[in-house]
Amino acid sequence: MLLDLDDTLYPEREFARGGFRAAAAVLAERLHQSSAELFELLWKQFENGMRGSIFDNALAELDLPRDAALIDELVRAYRTHEPQLTFFADAERLLPMIWPRYGLGLLTDGSADVQRRKVKALGLQFRVEAIVYSDDFGREHWKPSPIPYLELLRKMHVDPSHAVYVGDNPKKDFIGARRLGLQTVRIRRPNTEHGHVEPSPGFEADHEIVTLDALPDWLAANERSERHAA
Ligand SMILES: [Mg+2]
Repeated sequence: MLLDLDDTLYPEREFARGGFRAAAAVLAERLHQSSAELFELLWKQFENGMRGSIFDNALAELDLPRDAALIDELVRAYRTHEPQLTFFADAERLLPMIWPRYGLGLLTDGSADVQRRKVKALGLQFRVEAIVYSDDFGREHWKPSPIPYLELLRKMHVDPSHAVYVGDNPKKDFIGARRLGLQTVRIRRPNTEHGHVEPSPGFEADHEIVTLDALPDWLAANERSERHAA
């Protein structure tokens, strides 16, 4: 079983919240204003669905000129903060039910240094057999590139036809995996970045679930692994 990380195993908004707190602290020091109020200004935009220009908008709302150096500093504070993350409850239950009975690997996109901090915050390095950060192969090999999937399968000594990929993002999690012959399962959670996204034709997962608690039974019914046959 190959797992995605963000919004599959833990709520990514927890990471975002910590990142905006760190950025708000930087801004508070610069402006001599309340860090809590600045955080609310940033968080409100995130909650409203704003992505990619939250810091620019915040400076505008504060009647400050656009300041590229300051924005770089805020982005750095967001990305480099030490996250405090907790698993979704169903993910916490799933992990020990899978490994070591089955192989269990993690494949995650995003800046490798940021993703490594998330893995460390969750202690995931001790709870899966192998981890691949697609960013280690370059931005062009983020999902759905086949390279990180193949590298993880190689590390786990598993043939693609004997593997399942579990993720939450129909824009990229399933199309590459399916092309390689993996089975795919979408975990669809409310209040997550991609929970409401309807897949384009060809981007669907083979199967969809609303809780990871459904996976052990699904796995038993769909087992294709020679490794655990007999
Ligand atoms: Mg994800």
